[in-house]
Amino acid sequence: MNNTDVLLINPMDKTVVKNGLGLSVPPLNLMYLAGALEKASIGVKIFDDDLYQIGTQKINEYISKIAPKIVAITATTATITQALKYIRNIKKKSPNILTIIGGPHTTFRPIETLKNELCLDVVVIGEGEETIVELIDTYLKNVDNDYDSFLGDIKGIAYKKRINNLNFEDIDNELKTEENEIEDKYKENIYNNKKDNNDKIRLNEPRPLIKNLDELSFPARHLVDFKSYKLSSQSGGIITSRGCPFSCDYCSSSLIMGKKFRTRSSQNVVDELEELVYKYKVRDIAFLDDIFMLNKKRAEDIANEIKKRNLDINFVASSRVNTIQKSLLETLKSSGMSTLYCGVESGSQRVLNLMKKGITLQQAEKGFEIAKNLGINIVGSFILGYPGETTREMEDTINFSIKLDPDYCQYSILTPFPGTPIYNKLKKEKLLESENWDDYTVLKSVINYEKLGLSKKIVERKLAKAYIKFYTRPKYLIKHSSMIKVIMQTIYRSYIKPTFKEETPKGWYENL
Ligand code: SF4
Repeated sequence: MNNTDVLLINPMDKTVVKNGLGLSVPPLNLMYLAGALEKASIGVKIFDDDLYQIGTQKINEYISKIAPKIVAITATTATITQALKYIRNIKKKSPNILTIIGGPHTTFRPIETLKNELCLDVVVIGEGEETIVELIDTYLKNVDNDYDSFLGDIKGIAYKKRINNLNFEDIDNELKTEENEIEDKYKENIYNNKKDNNDKIRLNEPRPLIKNLDELSFPARHLVDFKSYKLSSQSGGIITSRGCPFSCDYCSSSLIMGKKFRTRSSQNVVDELEELVYKYKVRDIAFLDDIFMLNKKRAEDIANEIKKRNLDINFVASSRVNTIQKSLLETLKSSGMSTLYCGVESGSQRVLNLMKKGITLQQAEKGFEIAKNLGINIVGSFILGYPGETTREMEDTINFSIKLDPDYCQYSILTPFPGTPIYNKLKKEKLLESENWDDYTVLKSVINYEKLGLSKKIVERKLAKAYIKFYTRPKYLIKHSSMIKVIMQTIYRSYIKPTFKEETPKGWYENL
């Protein structure tokens, strides 16, 4: 095994929410990919720049030290601009490194991303474990030949044909001449998989979803400096299922992971929990599934397996409000469940229907009551500024969240991420005010609210009002006095003294 064939990079996330909360959690998606690569005997390292905050320029010092043949980076819509900066800086310094990107944003914009970033070679589309192994294995076997002639058969990627003697200006011009033709093909969703034409960018066939999740390797957690993360529950993040049968208009989950709810066996899940507890000394666990409690029997099986093995853990898990059942919560609580995460999203039934959320306000009230009566903490999430929502309905949402009285509330402004049905609708109706992805932080308005009879200012004020009204209630502050410190820290880190490192000490990479 070569020491480092591949370097996986988690880019720095500079969004206010992230920085403000001081959150820094191990990059679970990259650890999954690394696990799959290690299983295939491919040498891999992870560099979590969201933890180190070294930046897009200085990353080359580390690249020179470990000399990977391939760099792969993950990106969300909020981090795509930053992620591409790493790629550009790396490629300009080391033009022979193959550059790959993956994640939810580029899954829906593979051609556009390849076209706009000349230094990017390949986009991995959708679920990545099988694709990245086949892609990198193929590349390593053909690195000295025209590797790109071998990439046409790899499902689930889009890629740019190799251009020798890289000249950034020339590539730019060549790509521009084909721009319209490529865009048309993409729009028509025609897969261009011919090996013998001269197209510069190709979109291969999609890859079928992984059938048996138990066959996936556990995340390669040993590749990150586990002790450097604040050991919140998310440090012990684990995913036990993929896919969602619902079709909420603002969500792209089922478009990436499929509508079929695919699950790991309870044995396999609890084997990984044991690894977290005994090897990594983590007892606070977050089940990061989209909907952990969708299948009652499966959730109960996991709870019973945890109890059978006497695992002493605390965990948070998610549910839709209409799948909360008393008997299930009782079983989960007896196995360590401390917190329930629920997406309620609106206090207006009309807006919930617009969202295609498929729940009712009564179900939310009933679900919260069941959890509270059992002494389980609840985190509720709510969206403001849904297209078509009125000022009155935003107020209804704020008031409903207070009436439900969860332990924590997350409010956000509707952010139409690429790939979601609401994005496509707003784009078609020319209602997107910004496609600057740096604005897609869920705290800024990116929709042209004026055309919808609202205004950007109103929506942003409602967001501030929601947080202030919920978190500054005397009743709340008495019950959750520790929140005062969190609120003050968040304001300080977000607005007064952001924590990005300006200076990096020389030789920072020596001990990595
Ligand atoms: S928001 Fe949740 S329930 Fe709705 S589609 Fe997305 S993952 Fe499924």
